[in-house]
Amino acid sequence: QAKAAGRNSVRFFDPGLLEQMRARAQLEGELRRGLVQQELLLYYQPVVDGGGAIIGAEALVRWQHPVRGVVGPGEFIELAERTGLILALGDWVLQAACTRLARWAGRPGLDALVVSVNVSARQFRQPDFAARVRQALRASGARPRQLRLELTESLLLNETEETIAKMESLRAEGVGFSLDDFGTGYSSLSYLKRLPLDQIKIDRAFVRDVLGEPNDAAIVRTILALAHSLDLQVVAEGVETTSQLEFLRQHGCRAFQGYLFGRPAPAEALEQALQPAPA
Ligand code: C2E
Ligand code: MG
Ligand code: MG
Ligand code: MG
Repeated sequence: QAKAAGRNSVRFFDPGLLEQMRARAQLEGELRRGLVQQELLLYYQPVVDGGGAIIGAEALVRWQHPVRGVVGPGEFIELAERTGLILALGDWVLQAACTRLARWAGRPGLDALVVSVNVSARQFRQPDFAARVRQALRASGARPRQLRLELTESLLLNETEETIAKMESLRAEGVGFSLDDFGTGYSSLSYLKRLPLDQIKIDRAFVRDVLGEPNDAAIVRTILALAHSLDLQVVAEGVETTSQLEFLRQHGCRAFQGYLFGRPAPAEALEQALQPAPA
């Protein structure tokens, strides 16, 4: 009897679940500490035009963990969002990207780059979000025209007048807006027209099978036609092969991002790729 009860109780004190909770709590503590200890860093992935020339870069956060090495955002962004740490993390990312932009000012090859920064829903919803972006720009001296904020469809799902007002106020100063991972969310075509966007990024899930999957090819063609009729720039994400590139080019895409052109890497890699070799 006691044995049976013991066995039953296992269901309520599942050691696997407990272990999972403990691991999560530990990761949260470590991320909190990592933020303070400046363990975060930004990688940059080039965005190129049809001829392969670098026209911009996306800032992608990494965590230089003292024991685990470089950890990607897939392992901590969700946790950061759930715990609210994303607010401090997001501020740090904005400041770091703006500081980099300011350092590139006046340097041949780097001076005119546009840097894209990912913004999470919780971060964007802060009432003073626009003020925080402005503060990052002002403190660094970066030019607003060189900053582009990437928003996701889920963030815009409950878009309100406040959303539009926030975007408009930053856009009036020159900050650009991109709709990330387009096609994966609750793509409402109506907000493409309503929101002050400059760019949409076709999610790499569609680019991946664009040659083998007629449905994906049709989606990509439709997105390109739609975006162009609305005067939005399109970036194809996750371009890995020349045949994907060819398909996209043939259908009017003029900006690309993917391993074919460069993986996310420390800022120095981009500087080396772009700066003329010293005479
Ligand atoms: P995302 O914004 O859609 O970024 C593109 C992701 O695709 C990056 O993953 C990039 O490394 C990856 N990628 C680029 N080209 C290729 C390719 O050719 N093939 C494949 N297989 N993958 C490619 P990463 O760096 O792991 O970032 C994942 C996601 O984490 C990002 O997706 C973004 O949603 C989020 N994220 C990254 N940095 C930040 C940040 O600073 N703040 C917030 N809120 N989210 C971030
Ligand atoms: Mg992005
Ligand atoms: Mg994306
Ligand atoms: Mg994504």
